[in-house]
Amino acid sequence: MIESVLIPASPALYGEKSDRQTICISTQVGCAYGCKFCASGLEGFSRNLRANEIVDQIIAIERASGEKIDNIVFMGMGEPLANLKNVIRAIRIINASWGLRIGARHITVSTSGLAPQIKKLADEPLQIRLAVSLHGATDEVRNQIMPINRRYNVETLLSACDYYVAHKKQRLTFEYILIAGVNDADTQAHLLAQHARRLSAKVNLIPYNAVEGLEWSRPSRNRQEKFLSILRAEGVPATLRREKGHDIDAACGQLRLQTSRQERRRAVPA
Ligand code: SF4
Repeated sequence: MIESVLIPASPALYGEKSDRQTICISTQVGCAYGCKFCASGLEGFSRNLRANEIVDQIIAIERASGEKIDNIVFMGMGEPLANLKNVIRAIRIINASWGLRIGARHITVSTSGLAPQIKKLADEPLQIRLAVSLHGATDEVRNQIMPINRRYNVETLLSACDYYVAHKKQRLTFEYILIAGVNDADTQAHLLAQHARRLSAKVNLIPYNAVEGLEWSRPSRNRQEKFLSILRAEGVPATLRREKGHDIDAACGQLRLQTSRQERRRAVPA
C-alpha cells in the first residue's frame, strides 16, 4: 500500500502560482531511511516502485478527481533518490510530449540527503527542481532525527548541493520541518540562513504534523514566526507553510499508516 495526495491549488507552494493542481507521489513502498519524525518508515521498507507505478499515481488521481494535474512533487512515501533509475524513467514519461506533458520545471524531487545521487541527478539534462530535506542545520541536530546524516554529514550534503547548483539553472529548496525543542532554536535558524545563502537556496518551513506513536510536536506559532523572521532578516527567501495536510493526516506516510492501522483493527475478531 502506498499513498498519493492531491493538493488543491495553494498559493506559493513550491514557488508555483495559485492555479496549480499539485500531486504528491510515492516512489517506494515504505522507506528504509528511518527519519525519526516520519510515518513512512514506521512499518519498514518493502520495495521500490517501478516507473509505471510512479506514473500511474498521477493518472489514477486525474481519473478520480477529474482534475488536470500540472505540478508534481516527489515527496510521498520513500526516498526518491534511492530509486533513482525508476524515478528518472518516470520523470521522462511525465515530461514527454507523448506522455503526460508536464514541464520539468513543474516537477520537484525531494531527498533526505543522498549526496552521491544528488550529483548523479545534477548530471541529468532534465531541468527539474530539487528539494533537500535538511531539517537541521548542524550534524548534532541532523544525527538526532535523520540517520542518513551519519553516512553523509551536513558538509558532504552541502558540497553535493554546490555541485547540483553549479550544473543547473534551477534554484534549490531546503525543506525544514520545525519540531519543538529539536531544531527550532535561533542558532539553527542563523546557521540555516548561512547554508541557504551559500547555495542561493530558498527555505520552506513546515510546522511538524504530529504522528500517533511518535514523540515529537510542533513549535508554538510565535516560535515558528520567530524562526521565519531570522531567515528573512538574513536575506533568505523563506516561506512558512500553513499546510493543508494537518487536518486529514496527509503528511508523508500518515495516510497509509492510518489506513493500515484501521484495517488491522477491522481484522481483529470481536
Ligand atoms: S522523510 Fe523521506 S527519507 Fe525520511 S523516512 Fe520519511 S519517506 Fe523516508
